[in-house]
Amino acid sequence: MTIDDGNKSDITYVAPLLKQYGFGAAFYITEAGMRGLGFGRKKSVEAVERPENFVTWEDVRKLHEDGFEIGNHTELHFNLRELSKDQIRAELEHIEMRCREHDIPVPTTFVYPGSHHSIEVVEVLEEKDYLFARRGVGPEFPDNGQGARGPVYNPAEDHPLLVPTTGYAGPEWGFEDLVWAVEQAKDGKIAVLIFHGVPGLHHPWVITEPSDFERYMKYLKDQNCTVIAMRDLAKYVDPSQGPKDPYEPIQRRLALETAAPKSD
Ligand SMILES: [Zn+2]
Repeated sequence: MTIDDGNKSDITYVAPLLKQYGFGAAFYITEAGMRGLGFGRKKSVEAVERPENFVTWEDVRKLHEDGFEIGNHTELHFNLRELSKDQIRAELEHIEMRCREHDIPVPTTFVYPGSHHSIEVVEVLEEKDYLFARRGVGPEFPDNGQGARGPVYNPAEDHPLLVPTTGYAGPEWGFEDLVWAVEQAKDGKIAVLIFHGVPGLHHPWVITEPSDFERYMKYLKDQNCTVIAMRDLAKYVDPSQGPKDPYEPIQRRLALETAAPKSD
């Protein structure tokens, strides 16, 4: 269970509900929202967000104290494919420094801003000893940015720094998609879920309504799912194991798809 971007609902709604269910989760924090800045869509950062719609570092510390994982989602949420390795490092280290300042453990897991990943970012994460990093649903599944199904995480194949998203909540993703994601979580495979604001007071393209979120959590409980934070994957998966070429499993899946006969 992963919750991105530090929406205020993390602290006002999501964490209390998850606690009630006894679920673990990782909250991926960036300063893009809390400082009133845009989410790095342009390299020149604009003041376009309302900071009151986002958590503060005091809120983040409270999430940690409540037992949730705090993960790294970079300082300003840029597309890391457009940055140099030094700039990528700086983006990561800013969040690490803020965690230290607020007595929060330095993150060991990461989420790619805007799902933009590359071998350069994987290499920086590897150098910095990150254990797991989550990408989006692509390139195997289409992503129109409004919620989507994605690959199930298969620890026997996938690189731990390119963990795919199985269910990306948004207006075009709903209860049937959650059921589908949970059905994939078998034979050692793991369904990885992303939520943003519940509801988000900004970025309406990725919101989840509280009534839907509650229904989803109840379903996970009824299905007896083990709902955990990213860091707790280490109890089930050895993060030091992975394919030599991190992109090999993704390329193999894409090749299989292209080779498959089309059926009308
Ligand atoms: Zn994000």
